[in-house]
Amino acid sequence: MKIRHTDVLVIGGGLAGLRCAVGARRRGLDVRILSLVPAKRSHSVAAQGGMQASLANAIKGAGDNEDVHFEDTVRGSDWGCDQLVARMFTHMAPKAVRELAAWGVPWNRVRKGDHEAVINGQRVTLTERDEAHGLITARDFGGTRKWRTCYTSDGTGHAMLYALGDRAVAESIPVDERVEAIALIHDGGRCQGAVVRDLITGELTAWMAEATVMATGGHGRIYGVSTNALINEGMGAALALETGVARLANMEAVQFHPTAIVPAGILVTEGCRGDGGLLRDVDGHRFMPDYEPEKAELASRDVVSRRMAEHIRRGKGVPGDATKPEHLWLDITGLGAAHIDKNLREVKDICQYFLGIDPAKDWIPVRPTQHYSMGGIRTNHRGESPWLRGLFACGEAACWDLHGFNRLGGNSVAETVVAGMLVGEYVADYVEQEGGRLSMSPGLAREALAREEARIGAILARPGHEDAQAIRRSMEDIMTRQVGLFR
Ligand SMILES: Cc1cc2nc3c(=O)[nH]c(=O)nc-3n(C[C@H](O)[C@H](O)[C@H](O)COP(=O)(O)OP(=O)(O)OC[C@H]3O[C@@H](n4cnc5c(N)ncnc54)[C@H](O)[C@@H]3O)c2cc1C
Repeated sequence: MKIRHTDVLVIGGGLAGLRCAVGARRRGLDVRILSLVPAKRSHSVAAQGGMQASLANAIKGAGDNEDVHFEDTVRGSDWGCDQLVARMFTHMAPKAVRELAAWGVPWNRVRKGDHEAVINGQRVTLTERDEAHGLITARDFGGTRKWRTCYTSDGTGHAMLYALGDRAVAESIPVDERVEAIALIHDGGRCQGAVVRDLITGELTAWMAEATVMATGGHGRIYGVSTNALINEGMGAALALETGVARLANMEAVQFHPTAIVPAGILVTEGCRGDGGLLRDVDGHRFMPDYEPEKAELASRDVVSRRMAEHIRRGKGVPGDATKPEHLWLDITGLGAAHIDKNLREVKDICQYFLGIDPAKDWIPVRPTQHYSMGGIRTNHRGESPWLRGLFACGEAACWDLHGFNRLGGNSVAETVVAGMLVGEYVADYVEQEGGRLSMSPGLAREALAREEARIGAILARPGHEDAQAIRRSMEDIMTRQVGLFR
């Protein structure tokens, strides 16, 4: 039996796990990251549109500050978030964006005279603030009163994840990839690490740790159609729940994104609408202003998604067929080919590869689709489980309750790095204060290993003929039909 030790075990190599690991490492601790896939292939890489931070450099961001960001976040959450957490978050987001710039993220910048924009479908020229030239700029996103979403074209997650992946290497943090945590080791009161399976050899290892951080991402793949990567199955939440001690929270709060392409379910970013894209129905009518006169396409995501479903129910959807469900249109043709080539190039690629269309000329078929998990492993504002000491969580896997019932676009990648930054420090505090007094229990690790070996053996030896894939498809179908857009 293999038992290994580290101070901090971070399960998950996406944005949240990497940033948390860097924080704890910088406090002098031994840190190890585990990931199902190479860290730079974590789902964070798919984030397109951007990261919210109230820098107030863009012309339409003038007057922005952390109070305005806080108010938008609280309102956007349907007044359901934890306001202490929202305060901490909006206060730290500008620092996080600048830190990432220093670590190599090539944020789009304000350019002198580059003041053309499409607002509410109309191309306008903005004339002030040439002095902001060279500063990090921002685009418009749903549910925000200011242009606050910092971006690198529509490959923001890619740029952020690569910068943080490189940072982890620079800090000499080992990343074990193609391994899967399959159980937490705990004594009912304190978490002491995890049992981990090597996905290539099948070998089990007990990783014992003073602090264990779950940064395992969301659980979108419990739905049949989702914008999430195939690995986003909610494994972290399941492991926490299976302890019988740690708890989950807000699991009913699931976000549906208005614009996933039909039928593949691949996301095209909210940046499309932020930059001026419009939603149209079967008649080519732009319907969102009829429902939401003030923000139209840029009302918050839950609102736009529900309005789209409502409009389809009124018979205004584009009829589907055997290959395609009923849908609506996203029209970004007004932005022009040059803008799309520069700022929405991944969207262009997705449209070409998966639909065979050119979004500069053709409307994109879209429909609301499962996108984000607001719920997750319940923690306090320090990212620690109130029920299982030494168990921390951050990023999409966690519910420290920043998003309440609806997350604002751009607030998630911002959350991953801010939470990583803060929770990394709290984890280090915990290990420094409690570490010397914690006695690791190798007996506990041996028991956990034996239990997991027996469990896997029992599964392999089962004589039944049930088809796991069929059961899974049935679950996905139930979730899609019955746990959907309307609560
Ligand atoms: C298509 C798309 C576009 C998006 N665009 C934006 C955007 O523009 N702005 C924004 O704010 N948000 C966006 N989001 C949301 C945002 O990208 C995610 O919420 C965020 O990146 C999640 O980061 P994370 O670090 O919490 O998890 P992830 O990046 O999902 O990382 C999870 C990690 O956990 C590991 N893991 C999971 N289970 C195990 C296990 N059992 N054992 C070991 N390792 C495990 C995985 O290997 C992975 O390394 C988008 C989401 C999607 C789907």
